[in-house]
Amino acid sequence: MADASTALAAEADDHFHDECGVFGIFGRPEAAAIVTLGLHALQHRGQEAAGIVSYDGSQFHVERHIGLIGDNFTKQSVIDRLKGNRAIGHTRYATTGGAGMRNVQPFFAELADGGFAIAHNGNLTNAMTVQRALQKQGAIFSSTSDTETLLHLVATSKERDLNSRFIDAVRQVEGAFSLVAMSSKKMIGCRDPLGIRPLVLGDLDGAWILASETCALDIIGARFVRDLKPGEMVVVTSKGIESMFPFEPQKSRFCVFEYVYFARPDSSVEGRNVYDVRKRIGIELARESPVDADIVVPVPDSGTPAAIGFSQEAGLPFELGIIRNHYVGRTFISPGDSIRHMGVKLKHNANRRMIEGKRVVLVDDSIVRGTTSQKIVQMVREAGAKEVHMRIASPPTRASCFYGVDTPEKAKLLASRMSIEEMAEFIRVDSLGFLSLDGLYRAVGEPGRNEEQPQFCDACFSGQYPTRLLDHEGADNVRTLSLLATGGQ
Ligand code: SF4
Repeated sequence: MADASTALAAEADDHFHDECGVFGIFGRPEAAAIVTLGLHALQHRGQEAAGIVSYDGSQFHVERHIGLIGDNFTKQSVIDRLKGNRAIGHTRYATTGGAGMRNVQPFFAELADGGFAIAHNGNLTNAMTVQRALQKQGAIFSSTSDTETLLHLVATSKERDLNSRFIDAVRQVEGAFSLVAMSSKKMIGCRDPLGIRPLVLGDLDGAWILASETCALDIIGARFVRDLKPGEMVVVTSKGIESMFPFEPQKSRFCVFEYVYFARPDSSVEGRNVYDVRKRIGIELARESPVDADIVVPVPDSGTPAAIGFSQEAGLPFELGIIRNHYVGRTFISPGDSIRHMGVKLKHNANRRMIEGKRVVLVDDSIVRGTTSQKIVQMVREAGAKEVHMRIASPPTRASCFYGVDTPEKAKLLASRMSIEEMAEFIRVDSLGFLSLDGLYRAVGEPGRNEEQPQFCDACFSGQYPTRLLDHEGADNVRTLSLLATGGQ
């Protein structure tokens, strides 16, 4: 669960937030410095805490800090302590288990046959259920994170070698997991059988890398080798790399929201460049929801690629009618209604000369609670816009995510309780249009959504969860939607 400060931050920045980024490198001097750079490129996947575990041939070194990578891991003293030619790291946006040092990853423990570290992007949907069973057997948990459950499963497995114990552990969990783990002899990468969250393989002069996105390879000049396949596990040792598939094969259900918002636009995930997809989303949106207007204005930065696509398809000028202040950090957000309501003005300002007297199409990536949209529309109107039409580069977000994304409970999602007309009235626009689910699928290169067997996870739009939700059954936001769920039930 998000703590109070997270909730405030989320309110001012009304988006779904990906929970984590992971990065690991094996067989390269100054591994921790490289992990620092990789995590810096993945900072958009989590800004609240980060950690690195390295191994120097005789011992493990662990550094975990609250705050940004640049604030903690660029100090020479910290990097000096993280000795070794292999290291894994994690950057975190606190949701599952809440904030606080005890939940900062990678988790590290001394197991019967040596040290073991693990970092996780995603969320296990049966972690509580498994944890309760382990606790009945006497296990003690030191965090409230679902990832610690995996560590216990590896530690308590009856299998003989680490690969088998790791496989035994991941076969007992459900949900979304892109994992990077490390022992004294190996680095392991693994994606859940549906491949919900991304994980890519790279190479830097012969040293293998695992990372959430390709932008983390680019920053260090590493070569992109390939995406790990859904359900794939790779084991890197000094002898090379080995690939295995420990799960029953299933059809991929990659998170389609990675293309809408989470992944960095310069990354390629699952074979698609994120910027290209976002531009095509704008093109589809303009076709589905045309509007008679003078200019197309993105809500920066996340609405920008879709606004470019929209303007090209609609033949309308693209203008930076809203300027974003990049120096408003999450730390600026303070409690108290008066400050909270200033949030949007601190972050965005209308470029009056571009907007005054114009019929404006505002393009944003999504609407979550609607509070930010409401304030941005008001700001654009106050800057003299004649009409304000809003176009959203995704379908209405009607359901919560249980796969490693910070989402408000269902009742707080504007689209879960209002029709599109009511939403238009709430955010005070002249018209409001969302991309259809089929349009989103077309933008990622599919002919449309396969209703029988959807090609992606799109549960926050469709309510159709691709896995069981054991820990959440009975939760308000699932009760009604589980009736719609198709997979794994
Ligand atoms: S529910 Fe939405 S955000 Fe969560 S994994 Fe599925 S598509 Fe992605």
